[in-house]
Amino acid sequence: MYVEFGGPKIDYKCELVLAKGMDEVEDGKVEVVGPDLQEFKEGESYPLANIIYVAGAKVEKDLEAVIERRIHDFTNYIEGVMHLNQRYDIWIRISKKSYKKGFNTLKWWGLILIKLFKSAMPFIEKIQVTFYTDPEKVKWWYDQALKTYQARDARVRGLRDEDVDTFYGCVLCQSFAPQHVCVIPPNRVSLCGAMNWFDARAAASVDPKGPNFPIPKGKLLDPIKGEYEGVNKVVNERSLGANKRVYLYSMFSYPHTSCGCFETIGFYIPEVDGFGFVDRGFKGAAVNGLPFATMAAQTGGGIQTEGFLGMGLEYYRSPKFLQGDGGWGRVAWMCSTLRKRIEDAIPEELKDKIPTEKEASDVASLKKFLVEKGHPLAARIKELEAAAAPPAEKVEEVTPLAAVAPAVTPTVSAPGTLVVPAGGGLKIVLKGAKIHIDKIVIKR
Ligand code: SF4
Ligand code: ZN
Repeated sequence: MYVEFGGPKIDYKCELVLAKGMDEVEDGKVEVVGPDLQEFKEGESYPLANIIYVAGAKVEKDLEAVIERRIHDFTNYIEGVMHLNQRYDIWIRISKKSYKKGFNTLKWWGLILIKLFKSAMPFIEKIQVTFYTDPEKVKWWYDQALKTYQARDARVRGLRDEDVDTFYGCVLCQSFAPQHVCVIPPNRVSLCGAMNWFDARAAASVDPKGPNFPIPKGKLLDPIKGEYEGVNKVVNERSLGANKRVYLYSMFSYPHTSCGCFETIGFYIPEVDGFGFVDRGFKGAAVNGLPFATMAAQTGGGIQTEGFLGMGLEYYRSPKFLQGDGGWGRVAWMCSTLRKRIEDAIPEELKDKIPTEKEASDVASLKKFLVEKGHPLAARIKELEAAAAPPAEKVEEVTPLAAVAPAVTPTVSAPGTLVVPAGGGLKIVLKGAKIHIDKIVIKR
């Protein structure tokens, strides 16, 4: 890359669309406040606030989030430019090749956005783009933007899935994850966090040919896991048959798919039969030993992966939060960066019982913490430990597995070598796994 804006190395970054009056927007204007591309050092990371003003007879506040989300889509149309994520979490890279070919000012990016917004969303009559790269100004806009996002998120809190007949869908991310369909009921914000039920509804009505559409929810098939006949039908159609059923409030069996934009990841921890949660801002390894990026590869791509779930921040405040899996009672661990942001969502009685990396950095210390604090999972952990431990008097008599079932049991003869006994067979079932093999040798 030539340079990058935002991303994991940069604390302050954001994109924000604001609806303004017709006389407050200078149509077609693009400004760069702070250094522009030619003044940056190759290979470095910089803060950025991309602020867009829009106006038009049909442009309402409700549409801000919807217009804002298309920045991701449209920016990725530009050759040699990458745009990831949304809101306060953006990550943009500009390639050396494009820079050398003339993409040497952010003004090009602004002009492209203006052109694409006006052609895809003709209800935008006026649009003005300002890129702030001056660190002080980016920080100021970042604080403003966070307040705006919070106000948008709060709007949907009073509404319940039971109160509406129609959910909404989004397939904007199918360009990255072709089978992925976001289902957005009032109680489950999209996993990118940028699209709630009101936003998706506004988008579907103003831009019916766009990526958002209504989903008549149909018959409720499972009120606890959140399975609806209408949702299954639409997801099946929009994923071209790849995903036929969806549980909106569970990470097992038929979990909601994840593209790659998720604000946070929920993951199953089998040793405690509970869940851990991590956000993009967390730099270390989670309690299961895996960093965010490794789990992101496992979670994303639009496939249903049991035990891994991309989740928007606002979903933690939902009354349906993982309802099908036991809700907050199954929450065993959370990284401190995420915890800080959703502290208000944690039920009072669990506040001192859910550790972060500071109290539990691996599974052994997690088990200890949960049992000591009397977490709802404590009894389950003891059960699991009792089931795993062999009865003391039988330890001496354990027969090697190979001797019990020589025809089917593989053995490990040397580190990294799996030997299947002659005449035997081997059946391995791996669900949702990704496998990397350097070399495979098959001998008679
Ligand atoms: Fe749309 Fe979902 Fe992608 Fe957000 S994550 S842009 S709601 S498809
Ligand atoms: Zn996405």
